[in-house]
Amino acid sequence: TRNALRESRYLPATSTDGHRIEIAANVANAKQASFAIEAGAEGVGLMRSEFLFLERNSAPDEEEQYRVYREMTEVMGGRTLIIRALDIGGDKKVAYLNLPAEENPFLGVRGARLLLNRQDLLYTQLRALYRAAAHGPIRIMFPMVTHTSEIEALRQHCEHARAQVNGPELKIGIMVEVPAVALMAEKFAPLVDFFSVGTNDLTQYTLAIDRQHPELAAQADSLHPAVLDLIARTVAAAKKHGTWVGVCGGLAGDPLGAQILMGLGVDELSMSAQDVAAVKAALRGQSYADMQLLAQRALTAGSADEVRAL
Ligand code: PEP
Ligand code: MG
Repeated sequence: TRNALRESRYLPATSTDGHRIEIAANVANAKQASFAIEAGAEGVGLMRSEFLFLERNSAPDEEEQYRVYREMTEVMGGRTLIIRALDIGGDKKVAYLNLPAEENPFLGVRGARLLLNRQDLLYTQLRALYRAAAHGPIRIMFPMVTHTSEIEALRQHCEHARAQVNGPELKIGIMVEVPAVALMAEKFAPLVDFFSVGTNDLTQYTLAIDRQHPELAAQADSLHPAVLDLIARTVAAAKKHGTWVGVCGGLAGDPLGAQILMGLGVDELSMSAQDVAAVKAALRGQSYADMQLLAQRALTAGSADEVRAL
């Protein structure tokens, strides 16, 4: 019942045979982060920093961003805080950036591609993050990375920004949301401190279905075995290199999806705050051995519907 869920929300997601997974939340600001902790989240696995840039007439300057990220670290009280660098482009439009119109924005200059084109935006954000990190731990995550050269360049920019403000060293990771990255995760693992799988975009790009398409979006099912296979490859490569791997797309907040992801061996699940208690309860009700078996069966299924039927 809802009451039982509410009462159990601070219990860890430990399986009946003693395997624990971290449960974190996806948030847009400090208020949501504090709400998420109250709802049982153990950290923030994805702060979508682009929300700071939306619905206004000019970009937030370094000082404003610093104050927001610093407030985030204060709310988190030392818990894990992963802040994603600006993920603009695709469906998220920002008029004052005057970005050229694109025929296929989801395949265009989005996320890391935009940050590498617009180093003014990149450095303002990185300096604010490194300054805020003096007040509590922050991990930096880059969206929409496709090529190893992009993360190599971004790491160098991070180091320059860090030196400019004399900030602490921070963990730097990438979203795994382009299929090429999942397929080549072995090449990326040595270049990053962590991975976080973005199942929303990974599904969109794997199935070639616009995630917002009014007719097709329902078919963009992250339980599709092809998507699960890409996640399994990512986890295998991560394990080989001792790289931490989380999942911050919608699949992590679905109790069945969460069981499969835990069975695949991911280290963390990050979801909407309102899904935290139910996902934790679902994971506490199963053995890790059974979730591993479920994950293996899901990988050999022929469709998302077959996975659901498991
Ligand atoms: C994702 O793509 O799964 C993700 C978490 O990022 P967003 O939904 O913000 O694109
Ligand atoms: Mg995404």
